[in-house]
Amino acid sequence: MVGPGPNPLQVVGIVYAVLFVVIAALLWRTGRFSRTVRYLLLIVTVLFGFLFFSPMLPHQFQELVLRVDSRIGFGLLGGLIGIGVMLVLTFLFGRHFCGYLCPIGALQELAYAAPVPKVRTTRKRELSVARGVVFLVLLGAGLGAGFSLLSLFGLREFFTLTLSTGSFVFAAVLIISLFLYRPFCRVICPLGVLFQLATAPGWWKLRRTDACINCHTCERACPTGEAHSTDLQGECYLCRRCVEACPVAGALIYGPQAPVTQAGGE
Ligand code: SF4
Ligand code: SF4
Repeated sequence: MVGPGPNPLQVVGIVYAVLFVVIAALLWRTGRFSRTVRYLLLIVTVLFGFLFFSPMLPHQFQELVLRVDSRIGFGLLGGLIGIGVMLVLTFLFGRHFCGYLCPIGALQELAYAAPVPKVRTTRKRELSVARGVVFLVLLGAGLGAGFSLLSLFGLREFFTLTLSTGSFVFAAVLIISLFLYRPFCRVICPLGVLFQLATAPGWWKLRRTDACINCHTCERACPTGEAHSTDLQGECYLCRRCVEACPVAGALIYGPQAPVTQAGGE
């Protein structure tokens, strides 16, 4: 069943999200996405998460699966439109939503910026498979038994500052995020599955140019193992670590695969 249609708040949210992604992509493309912009966007997004519990698409995806339109924040149709629009934008421009617009992702990103020792894993395939299994369990539990798997992670409680078992679970995820890059995104998030699939064949991504000296510095800097020239970047969160680590100006640019004519991304 499809519930109530779009309401004004929902339309504002979708317009904000579309503008956010398009402007972020243009800033990347023209080399204006600086470290300052990066932290500014992350902080604004986290604040919006606490103030409005939005945009919280993973939570809304779960409610779509449960078909509980009253808990999505807007109608089921609006939820479908919002996720559909984000999937198209992700195909076109990469995971700007995950990188900077999702409060869950932004909080983990800020946590990982803390100066503590990091745990790197090169098992990106295994992580993606694990998240795929979680995705199927979420669908099965939601459609078959009306059970919300994501409710175990207390997203709503955490961002509305409500004490519960779930909010402590998400707090634990954040503590893990200090050491391990985006554990919720890479293992749990149902939208991560869809966004990875949308990004892999996507249009604008990080590309190497002829200026690349093949020093592998970007690959060592990447927390998700997506910086090799042959990687599809389905798990690239546009964190900029590769760009900032690269010793050669113009060796890494963001944009369509061809023609490679403009230095950007830095
Ligand atoms: S993977 Fe999911 S939780 Fe992580 S940033 Fe993307 S939508 Fe948000
Ligand atoms: S280091 Fe580069 S390739 Fe790796 S996730 Fe960050 S922006 Fe993407």
